[in-house]
Amino acid sequence: MNFNRSESGLYLPSPPPKTVDEIAREQRQAYYDAHRRCPRCGSNQIERTTVGYIVPPDENRATCGCGWTGIVHDLVEDAQDSPEDSE
Ligand SMILES: [Zn+2]
Repeated sequence: MNFNRSESGLYLPSPPPKTVDEIAREQRQAYYDAHRRCPRCGSNQIERTTVGYIVPPDENRATCGCGWTGIVHDLVEDAQDSPEDSE
């Protein structure tokens, strides 16, 4: 087992290596996080189809309440000053 020296000076066991499934899940989540909001109005109230595209771009249809339509790949990530609307 490998040990990493922490900021406190203690040697702590390093976390186990990630599995392929975990990495894939993180990448899907990262892609999802980067494509959450309408590029026109910034809303995250997006209706989207759920075809399982394995690799980007995600070409599921996305429709916003403001009338914008496109694909999930066209959506934008959360901005710092985004309105706090519910999911
Ligand atoms: Zn919109």
